[in-house]
Amino acid sequence: MKAFTYQRADSAAQAAAAAVKPGAKIIAGGTNLLDLMKLQVETPSNLVDINRLPLDKIEGTPDGGLRIGTLVRNSDLAADPRVRQRYGVLSRALLAGASAQLRNKATTGGNLLQRTRCYYFYDITKPCNKRNPGSGCAALAGFNRIHAILGTSEHCIAGRNQGDSDRGVLSSSRQHSRN
Ligand SMILES: Cc1cc2nc3c(=O)[nH]c(=O)nc-3n(C[C@H](O)[C@H](O)[C@H](O)COP(=O)(O)OP(=O)(O)OC[C@H]3O[C@@H](n4cnc5c(N)ncnc54)[C@H](O)[C@@H]3O)c2cc1C
Ligand code: SF4
Repeated sequence: MKAFTYQRADSAAQAAAAAVKPGAKIIAGGTNLLDLMKLQVETPSNLVDINRLPLDKIEGTPDGGLRIGTLVRNSDLAADPRVRQRYGVLSRALLAGASAQLRNKATTGGNLLQRTRCYYFYDITKPCNKRNPGSGCAALAGFNRIHAILGTSEHCIAGRNQGDSDRGVLSSSRQHSRN
């Protein structure tokens, strides 16, 4: 792992200001980011810890929906009675992902923003256009049972919603429905 600095944000504004600086990365549960740092796929120079911010609430909205804070842990979201009753697929998808220990740390924001879970993206000895543009795609002829059916290209078959700012939560249900 490469050397980096660490700071704890005391407010959302402070976190946002720190996160836009070159080399900075927000850290929430760390269950994706730390793995990537150990493998040197991600090499941030500063980590901005947002875990003390009051963003862990699940609140009802006037139109009958739910507003889910970015720091709501996957376990807490899956167990929330409103989610279980009204969004059963979401609850089950969350419980199908990872392990209990990971779900206790993993946050909603981190789930949405995690990088792809393609095995070759994490293996720096293998070509991967997403990690190293132009190097090729090891998954095309490799182990690709968890990869996307729709939304692929000749350059990457991981698909958009295996992380990378799309619906990571839903990628959980898809991964498990294909296993
Ligand atoms: C063994 C294992 C199995 C897994 N299985 C599944 C699975 O089956 N299905 C599935 O969907 N996922 C799975 N995951 C992924 C897991 O859901 C994610 O690692 C987790 O949700 C990430 O949340 P986190 O809070 O730990 O994010 P972190 O690791 O802290 O952050 C992930 C990324 O999001 C960014 N980020 C986090 N919060 C914010 C924010 N508020 N604003 C801006 N950026 C932010 C970080 O900068 C980083 O780039 C698995 C992970 C592991 C290790
Ligand atoms: S599918 Fe995408 S993420 Fe996976 S090896 Fe190919 S280019 Fe990389």
